[in-house]
Amino acid sequence: MSRRRFMDALLRRNTSGEAVFGTGTSIVCRELMERVGVFFPEGHLDAEPMAALAMAGHTLLGLDVVMPLFSVCHDAAAMGSSVDWGGPEAMPVCGRPIFRTADEVRVPPDLLTRPGCRVPLEAIALLKKRLGDDAAVCGKVMGGWTQGYHCFGVENFLIGTLDDPGQTHRIIERLCEATLLFARAQIDAGADCILLADHATRDLCSPRAYEEFLLPVHCRLAAEIPVPVILHICGNTADRIAMIARTGLACFHWDTKTGSAEEVRRLAGAGLGLMGGIGNYRLLRGTPEEIAADARRAVAAGIDVVGPECAIPLGTPLANLKAVASISRQ
Ligand SMILES: [Zn+2]
Repeated sequence: MSRRRFMDALLRRNTSGEAVFGTGTSIVCRELMERVGVFFPEGHLDAEPMAALAMAGHTLLGLDVVMPLFSVCHDAAAMGSSVDWGGPEAMPVCGRPIFRTADEVRVPPDLLTRPGCRVPLEAIALLKKRLGDDAAVCGKVMGGWTQGYHCFGVENFLIGTLDDPGQTHRIIERLCEATLLFARAQIDAGADCILLADHATRDLCSPRAYEEFLLPVHCRLAAEIPVPVILHICGNTADRIAMIARTGLACFHWDTKTGSAEEVRRLAGAGLGLMGGIGNYRLLRGTPEEIAADARRAVAAGIDVVGPECAIPLGTPLANLKAVASISRQ
């Protein structure tokens, strides 16, 4: 039943009276790896360990959704970028830029069978088979802006948005072919919904740049991905939530730097689903009582899916992570 309630919540149609908990980003911390007996980097590189860690989001933490792509580097790896996959103490990082111009951007014909895509696709299929209707399975893809960072280097990509906006449009368009291919394959493998991470954070993407480069692309992705899509952007997004509400995307996964849950609900209006409400600093340094209080506040403010705001820090205490959904059992 969790699956149904989660999918209803994404679309603001949860009338069960029960709060819904989850996140479309990583829930893995060191203590969770120890509890499951699976560690990074294996949790990024092999489908069974990846699925085992994701499954703990439901069985150990009580969340209504699981999501197995714990890093932002799978898409880049499949595109041809070298990736340092890190370990239990470090998240993966993408290597040197692989493209310099829009014309160089090409999506490899075997994209979906390369390990960067194949492993998460296998993990999604395993999770779907094992969970059935017990919890929703969320996939994850990187949008054209984030892929631009990975394939061109952050600095080169951002300079390009000022020097040659036409080329930036072409780059985003081409990279979004990979976004769409990977999203559709995840849906075929069993994903109920897709988290679209596109890190158009305010300090790196002005509201005008969001409107020019991303608003039309996010509208297109919302229309072309045939399941509910959750957009994830870190940092303060107060100046663009109203634009995001116009994209047709089902839900927005917001960062607490944007403001209080009440303020974010006001900015989003009544139509846009909202996910998040628990800050990373609180998860890392707060107490289970403080986290439960934040979760209650988020539910009361109309946050549809309550959970961590972003990939959680690896040092997050497991007790704090368990506190997120604990209010449903009280
Ligand atoms: Zn984030």
